[in-house]
Order: sequence, then structure tokens, then C-alpha cells
Amino acid sequence: MELENDPLLRVIRESWGYTELRPLQREAMEAALRRRDSLVVLPTGGGKSLCYQAPALLADGVTVVVSPLISLMKDQVDRLIGRGVPTAFLNSSLEWEDRRRVSGDLARGRYKLIFVAPERFTGERFLASLDSVGVAAFAIDEAHCISHWGHDFRVDYRRLDQLKKRFPDTPVHAFTATATPRVRQDVITHLELKDPVVLVGDFFRPNLSYRVERRTDAFDDVQGEIRGRSGQAGLVYCIRRADVDDLAAQLKRSGIRVAAYHAGMSDEERTRVQDQFTAAEVDVVVATVAFGMGIDRADIRFVIHAAMPKSLEHYQQETGRAGRDGKPADCVLFYSGADYGLWRTLLTQHEPADVDHKMRMLSEIYAFCTGARCRHRSLVEYFGQAWRRVSCGACDVCKGQRAALTDGARLARAIVDGIMRTGQRFGPAYVADVLSGQVTDRVTERGHRDLAAFGALAEHPKGALIAWMSQLVDQGVLVRDGEYGVLKLTMSGWKVARGEAQATLREVDRGRSTKKSRRRKELGVPAKVEEDVPGGPGSVLFEELRALRRSIADEEGVPAFMVFSDKTLRLMARAKPSTRSELLDIHGVGPTKVERYGARFLKLIQMRGEGD
Ligand code: ADP
Ligand code: ZN
Repeated sequence: MELENDPLLRVIRESWGYTELRPLQREAMEAALRRRDSLVVLPTGGGKSLCYQAPALLADGVTVVVSPLISLMKDQVDRLIGRGVPTAFLNSSLEWEDRRRVSGDLARGRYKLIFVAPERFTGERFLASLDSVGVAAFAIDEAHCISHWGHDFRVDYRRLDQLKKRFPDTPVHAFTATATPRVRQDVITHLELKDPVVLVGDFFRPNLSYRVERRTDAFDDVQGEIRGRSGQAGLVYCIRRADVDDLAAQLKRSGIRVAAYHAGMSDEERTRVQDQFTAAEVDVVVATVAFGMGIDRADIRFVIHAAMPKSLEHYQQETGRAGRDGKPADCVLFYSGADYGLWRTLLTQHEPADVDHKMRMLSEIYAFCTGARCRHRSLVEYFGQAWRRVSCGACDVCKGQRAALTDGARLARAIVDGIMRTGQRFGPAYVADVLSGQVTDRVTERGHRDLAAFGALAEHPKGALIAWMSQLVDQGVLVRDGEYGVLKLTMSGWKVARGEAQATLREVDRGRSTKKSRRRKELGVPAKVEEDVPGGPGSVLFEELRALRRSIADEEGVPAFMVFSDKTLRLMARAKPSTRSELLDIHGVGPTKVERYGARFLKLIQMRGEGD
């Protein structure tokens, strides 16, 4: 690297000790030095901070960095001071006296960089103080927060539309790790960037390997992944705080050095966890989304999602924290239909703003989970980049970990047929209701109980049917149309319907039914013994009925016992009812449940009952 006569590179070498630049860092810094507005999109860990920090040292005046992450400001400032850069931060965490001191030093031109929270721009005072200081540039970190279309909209960020009005000649540099083309445009519009240099990094992270599986049991699944990785650093993400606490406690009991982290904990506790993780005193942090922005640990070897996140942006950002040292790391996502239901409830009840948009993002990640399309490709394309490889070689789909089903062609044709017969007017959940023979009000009202397609695939859980529909979309047999994702046939869909072409379907669960028992055996845990036996635990049919109950519970987002109790299932396994009225005779089975679940349980009993 030609360092001696390039002042920028000299500064970087002397203050940071870096001998090379990462992709697009040079372009981003050159834009800054030429005082051009810019939008820089680099994946997490791509080195965005250097892009505004190094040019700040060479500029006249102070560079104002806007960041939403108050908790990280102090850290960043300390590090810069350690590199000999005069820096400070201004936010609500400062005592009045410190704030006055920093404001005074800022006015006296003592700083090269000042970190501020976006709400500083609410009042006139701060803006007025900047007038007199001489601002070299504004750097907006996490710039996607300005956009409604992003995954993390913050009202405070909207104040930043004042910047260009107030400081028309001061360059503004926007940085983000996650921005779809639409969010990008929104950032440019709201910040009123003038003819900006737009730099978008490569989102393909070949050292990350992706795998997506349907969840059997959060603890079993997660612990199964972590076992054999002792001493490795990892993150486990859950949806809710209570899940974090539960899972962390269970993992701790099984001997893993683990800590919990979520927004319900005090600032001190959270800082402690962050410090312990950085210092490698704990290996695994179980967290909600609150954890991770700015984690400075490059050797994270695995990121496990114990449940589905609410958007692909979140997923990309959270998995992006793995393997920042460039060495291989694994990203495993366990999902279930229940996650979709839970998010829908949380979003509609607690985050009603833009709920339609959020639901669309939720559907997108659900399609990602249930589909069988290269994971890397899906993520890269979601972020608006072209995919030019045949296979990534680093995801469950490309590695062929999902076996093709032997009767896939028949199933595919039955699904396509169901969509055709219901008039191509419904989304996957409804089509699955019809195919699996659910007697819901909607199905009855529309007369779809009379179709040949009704119950044609009753032996398969609804979740699997939905997953296969995603796979057919991925293969171009079906398309999702409009806001509600109505499924329609493509040209090749019609060929499948006429039997002129065949589609392939892949299994949805890798060896799912046996996984738990196998693990129990490995761990030397005996299967739970229950007394009043015939048809009890150990009976194949009983276990299958439980598995069916579990998928139904997952799909509906309700606890398993709400479907049927263990006792009822045991009675069912013993009595092997073959009609609805025989089913009704069983203790714990009422008319509503017969209507809702009867078809699937009867079908299973009929199929399996004979040999048991
Ligand atoms: P981002 O904000 O894009 O997620 P950071 O700016 O926090 O990324 O940088 C991630 C890590 O990479 C930091 O530890 C940083 O010190 C390091 N880093 C950034 N640029 C370089 C470089 N050119 N050479 C070596 N390390 C770098
Ligand atoms: Zn792949």
C-alpha cells in the first residue's frame, strides 16, 4: 500500500494500525474527502465507522456523528480517544455539568468528532451551537432508521430532514448495514442528499453457512446445536424476554457458559453481559434483538435463532454478526408456524404503525423459512443484488440436505390442483385448509368441502403443505400475487396440472419425528414413563398422534393441550375410532374439536391404526 504520500492512508496506519482497506472503504472515504454526499451500504462488520472517522481527522471543523445507540457511544468515544483523536459524545445519559463542559469544548472547536443522539436535533439550541462551530460533515449511522420501509424506523430520525435545510453546504454521509433498494431511496429523499455517491457492498458472506429447520423443541434443538462446540462463541436469538430467560436457564443447567440479555434488564446488567461476552467469560449469549448492535467480537462461530425473526433484514443483521473474522461460522434458524402467529399478534397489538408493511416483511421471512431456495441467494437478492453463482455450497438447500420426496410429483400436482379448483383466489393458509380437509367456516361457506381436493392431502400437516407451496413458488410453478399473496399458476404450473411436467418437492423436516427420541437416547435420558398403559407412551400410534397434535399446535400458535390432552390422545390410540361419531365418544373430544381436527386425526388413525 502506498502510504507515505497519501495522508489518509497514513492517518489510518498511524491511528488505527490497519495496513489494508476493506471493500468500498476507500471509495467511501474519497467521497467524504471530496465533500460529496454519500450513502454507504456495507454489511455488519464491513467497517463503516472508519469511513467517517478517518476523513474527519483530515477535515477542518468537527464531524457530527448521529447514532441511535446511546449505550455504544461511550465505547466508541473511548476507543477514539485511545487513538489520540479528540472526541466526545452528547446524549441524555450525561449529567448536566458534563453536558455543559462538552458543549463548551465543542464551541471552542476542541473536537474532531462529536457523537450525538438524534433527539439533539429537536431543539434549536444544539443546531444554533453548530452554526458557530463549523461542521465538516454529518455522518448518519444506522441511516435506515429514517425510513418507514426499514425494519427499525425511529421517529427521532425524521428530524434529520432539517440538516440540509439548515446546512445546505455541509456534506451528509449516510451509513447502514441493511437497506433494500426502497429503503435506500427513502434515506436519500429524507436526508435530501444531493447527487450522492451510492456505494453498496457485497452481501454475500461465503464463510457463513445457513440452515433452516422446523423447530421440534426450542431447548432440545438449540442444545443439540451447541453441544460439541464447547468454548466457541455464539449467539442465540429468541422472540420474547421470557423465552430468553427460560432458554438461558436451561442451557446453564446443562453446563453451557451462557448469559441472558434483553431490554428488560437494567443498564448495568446489560453492560456486564456485554463485557463478559467480549472478554470471553461467557461463550453464549441468549438474547432478544436488543443484543448485538456493535458487538466487538469477531470470532462468533454460530448464530442460532430459536425462533423466526420478524424480517429478513433482522435475520441478515443478526446472522451477519457471525464470522466477522472471515472464518467459517454456522447460522441455524429454527422456526415454526407458531412464530408467525406470535409475531402477527405482537405486531398488530404492540406496533400498530405500518402494520401492513410489517406483515409483508413477516410473510417474506416465513416464505424464506418454508421455501427451498438457496439461502444466500435469497438474502443477497432481497438486498437488491444480482446473484451470479449456480450454488453457494454453504446452505442446507445447496448442500442437498433436504431430500427430494419420492412422491413429490404427485403431491405437487395435488397442490396445484387444489389451487386451480379453488379458483386461484386464496393464499397458502387457506389452500392448505382445503387440502388438509379442515372444516372451517370459510371453507364451508365457499362450498369447498364438496371439492375433490378437499382433504386430498389430509395426511400431511398444514405447515408442510404451506412449505411445499413456497417450494413451488421458488420453482416458478406458482406465483404469489398482490398484497395478500394469492397463489396462482404460472405457465409451468398449468403444465404440472395437466401432467405434462413434474415438480420436485423436498422434505420439510430433516428426520424430525425421530430427532428428539434419538437425542434422548444419546443423552441417556429414558423416555418418560406413564402408567395407565395400553396405547400409552411407547405405542407408535400414540407418539404419532402427539406429533400431529404438535404440528397443529404450532400452526395455530396455541399450546398443545389446547388441541387435545395426553389423556385424550391415549384413549384415541387405544380406541382407534374410525368415524366422527366414534371420535366424539372419546373423553375430551367435543363437536368443535371434531370439526376442526377430526379429519386429520381420523386419517392418521386409519393409516397407522392397522399395523399398530
Ligand atoms: P460496521 O460498523 O460496518 O459494522 P465496524 O466499523 O464496527 O463495522 O468495523 C468492524 C470491525 O472491523 C472493527 O473491529 C474495526 O476495527 C475493524 N476494521 C474496520 N476496517 C478495517 C480495516 N481496514 N482493516 C482491519 N480492520 C478493520
Ligand atoms: Zn445455497
